[in-house]
Amino acid sequence: MSYAVPAAPVVALPVAGSEDTFPVRRIWCVGRNYAAHAREMGSDPDRDPPFFFAKPTDAIVQNGDPIPYPAGTKNLHHEIELVVAIGKAGSRIPVDQALEHVYGYAVGLDMTRRDLQNAAKDSGRPWEMGKSYDFSAPCSAIQPAVRIGHPDKGAIWVKVNGTVKQSSDISNLIWNVAETISHLSQLIDLRPGDIIYTGTPEGVAAVVAGDVMEGHIDGVGDIRTPVIA
Ligand code: MN
Repeated sequence: MSYAVPAAPVVALPVAGSEDTFPVRRIWCVGRNYAAHAREMGSDPDRDPPFFFAKPTDAIVQNGDPIPYPAGTKNLHHEIELVVAIGKAGSRIPVDQALEHVYGYAVGLDMTRRDLQNAAKDSGRPWEMGKSYDFSAPCSAIQPAVRIGHPDKGAIWVKVNGTVKQSSDISNLIWNVAETISHLSQLIDLRPGDIIYTGTPEGVAAVVAGDVMEGHIDGVGDIRTPVIA
């Protein structure tokens, strides 16, 4: 038996302080999870249940690697996000047990073709072509929770060409990590290797070819992602 076409390689992220890598199974994303960003997107930042979308696993871009400016957009936005890496399977996970399912944390960029996303929203169509395309998920190395714990406060920011564009604190998450895991696990079975982009704070803005994005979360790490033509 052999595959009819070449099998896709496993997508894996480095694990900080280890020779191991973290094999990414699926990429889940929270739609809006900071009140000030919900407002800038024209939404009411109440505590409506979080909603989720997904990206293809091979959208991952390693820290330091460039992303090509994508086709089909004139408004490519950065969204700096805390990423949670799941280490233990679970479904219908109670909030008070949710952190037991976390392997570690990373710094990610949920790159968004905002014009395509907004057109999809306006027409009631799926978001995929705005969110779920090639090179749309830059992500740093995973910091294991056994090394750094479970960060619940600390600065999150992204600079473009050295200028701060988004700056907040992960304590401003509407739904914290445990609550997010609990909600998502009511809808799908979480598996080891799943990662969750937990949403972005206010200040999303456009980048163009030639820009360099540098993101940071206190206690988690840094990411650097150039945009090329
Ligand atoms: Mn996002």
